[in-house]
Formats: sequence, structure tokens, C-alpha cells
Amino acid sequence: VPDAEIIAVGSELLTHERVDTNSLFVTEQLNVLGVEVRRKVVIGDDRARLAAAIRDALSNAEIVVLSGGLGPTEDDLTRDAVAAALGRNLIFSDEILAWIEQRFRLFQRKMADVNRRQAFLVEGAEILPNPRGTAPGQWIDLHGHVVMLLPGPPGELKPLFVNECVPRLTRHLPPQVIRTRFFRVAGMGESDLDALIAPVYTRVANPVTTILAGMGDIQVHLRARAGTAEEAETLLEAVAPEIETLLGDRIYSRNGDLLETVIGQLLRERGATLSVAESVTGGMLAQRITSIAGSSDYFVGGFLTYSNRMKTELLGVAAELIEAHTAVSEEVARAMAEGARARTGSDYALAATGEAGPESATGAPVGTVFLGIATPAGVEARKIGSPGERQRVRSLSTQLALDLLRRRLIAQR
Ligand code: AMP
Ligand code: MG
Repeated sequence: VPDAEIIAVGSELLTHERVDTNSLFVTEQLNVLGVEVRRKVVIGDDRARLAAAIRDALSNAEIVVLSGGLGPTEDDLTRDAVAAALGRNLIFSDEILAWIEQRFRLFQRKMADVNRRQAFLVEGAEILPNPRGTAPGQWIDLHGHVVMLLPGPPGELKPLFVNECVPRLTRHLPPQVIRTRFFRVAGMGESDLDALIAPVYTRVANPVTTILAGMGDIQVHLRARAGTAEEAETLLEAVAPEIETLLGDRIYSRNGDLLETVIGQLLRERGATLSVAESVTGGMLAQRITSIAGSSDYFVGGFLTYSNRMKTELLGVAAELIEAHTAVSEEVARAMAEGARARTGSDYALAATGEAGPESATGAPVGTVFLGIATPAGVEARKIGSPGERQRVRSLSTQLALDLLRRRLIAQR
């Protein structure tokens, strides 16, 4: 199976204001076809650099995808650079010109002379119609290599890639089947997870394993390619069960479901209800829980008790308890969870109290958070230390609180 490289063209992509998103879309599409992107680069509007990058890409990969630089102006150099890199001429295409002229007529605009630039085709290239824009894409089959020139605007590139490039690529590629496994994991850092499963997945090159880390949330993708579905499954079976066993109940989803979705399902299955008592998370727990349609089946409500006085008045946390241990303490986290459970009559209650920073009000180090959980089996608290800035502390606390609930729910079948 051939490999791919992507070249995103445009000086604006080298500023802090614009990012190359086309390559993400193209990568996703190529991966579905079983093609791996081995490298991608961003090159400014510079003919020599661009031509050098194209030659370099062609020496490393069979498939080279270029996006951008097909516009009508001086700085749109992709056609020129590809012709230079391949040692081919640019040929004026009357067919493209007629098409561009027709586009302008359609929008009742006068075609500027510069638009004629867009009618140049690299010698030997096939035209990829672009009904959303003026510049067509180009497909160059080099017998063993293929080079694609695609328009920069994502609204043009995406349909063009799907409609024109995917069918051509499919014809070029050997028949193959892709099978995947997908695990979402909570409550574990990326480096710990990698240390745990790398010894397994590095044994093989197929399936390819990718790890995407978010805030207390990691996605593990395994993608196997083979001539038949059975072969692909066999390749997956050589590593996936072992990875699954190592991760154990830290895996919360195998189909991409969010943690809040999984919790909703567990609560619904048990006919159980939930409430929350939030301080440091400031409503983020309730927000995530209620983002799921149908959450009113199990979520009764919550308390946003940011001050000590509100913790006492709304949740019944004894003022003396706060006085003795401070608001950021195991004792107060437990009392908040108990209070929410008692006052709402819910089966489960989650609480979060902590120091998100940058200053500490209680003397506890910034990033110290206590999560409380009250269940039919009792109440407990857990201390977490979250590194990083304020929003990170709050997001991670929310994620770990939801995961704590998930663990207690699966423990109480
Ligand atoms: P161009 O085809 O180079 O004239 O690009 C036209 C417009 O498409 C640019 O102004 C960008 O807004 C957008 N664009 C170009 N390349 C990319 C890219 N790699 N990712 C996302 N947007 C892009
Ligand atoms: Mg450009």
C-alpha cells in the first residue's frame, strides 16, 4: 500500500492567524482508504521552496497531495511549482478557460484577466472539476506516483476530494479491508497509558495504533489493513485483547460514546438518580451531564455552592467542619455529597471542591481538588492533584468526578 505526504501551500498558514485544516480532512479520508500520511509540511508562497518540497515528497511517498495556491493571483504558485518539480510544461487549457468564463457569466460578473492564470494545466494532468470555485483541481498520474493539486478553500477541497480523488485513489490502490478497534479511557495520564500498552502495540506495525490525549480522556485507535476482513480481524486479535486487558475498567467506551453518555446509560439501567454539589467546577458537572438528551430521566439537579455560606445553607455542611478543615478538604467534599444526596433524595451525588488557582484561598496548593461521592453504599472522598492552569484544573476535576461515578456504578451491579 502506498504512503502519502501532504503539502499545504500558503503564506497565511505560516502566521499565527490561520491553521492548515485541509490536511486533517485529507488525512482522515486517506486513512479510511488504508493510506497512511507519513509527513506533511506547510510551505509559504515561494516557488523554489515549493518545488523543492514537491520533489522531496515524491522521493518519499507515492501519493502527494497539495492544497492551496491555485488562485488567480501572483502568489498562487502551485501549478508553476509542480510543473518545475516534474520538469513538465504548463499548458493553457481552452476547456478550463471556457468553464471559468461560464462560471463568471453564471454569477453575472466580469472575468478579470488574472483568472486566465487558473486555466493552466500541468502537462499530462487530468482536470478535477470544482463546481464550488473557479480553479479546478488537477490529478497527475506518474505511473507509480500520483500528485494532486487541490484548491485551498475547505468548502471546495472537501467535496472535490470526496467526489474526484477518492474514486480515483480507490482504483489505484490494491483491494484491502480496514478493521478498527477504538477505546476511550478515563482517569489515566497519557504517559502512564503509553508505558502500559506500548510494549504490546509496538510489537506490530499492522494494526497501526494512535493515541489521542485530551483532559483526563484518552482515545486509543487500532487500525488494521489486510486483503480480507478475516485477515484484518486476525491482525487486530493479535494485540487488541491484550491492550483491552491491560486497560481494564479504565476503558469507558468502545464505540466513541462520551463519558457523560456512558454514565447516563448506567444510571438508567439501574433506575438510579443523580445530583451534584459543585464548588470548584462551577457548574461544569451539571453542564456535561445535562448535555445528554434524556438526562432528565436520571439527573435531578444540583447546587452551585461557591462560598462557604452557600455550602452551609444549601447543603447543610456544618460551619464548624469548614472552620476546622477548610472548604478544600476531604471532610467537606464528603459533607457536600451527603448534603446533595439527602436534600434531593437522589441515589447518587457527586461533589467537587478545590483550588483552581492562580491564588489559593484556603492554603491548599493550587490544583488540589477533593471529589466526594455519596452512594446507597456510603460516602467517600478522593483527593486529586491536577497540574496546570485554572481551566485545566476545572476540566480535569469534572472528568475525574464523572469517572469516579462511573466506577462506583459498575461496581454496584
Ligand atoms: P488559495 O487556494 O491558496 O488561494 O487559498 C484560498 C483560501 O483557502 C485561503 O485564504 C485560506 O483561507 C484557505 N486555505 C488554504 N489552504 C488551507 C489549508 N491548508 N487549510 C485550511 N484553509 C486553507
Ligand atoms: Mg494561497
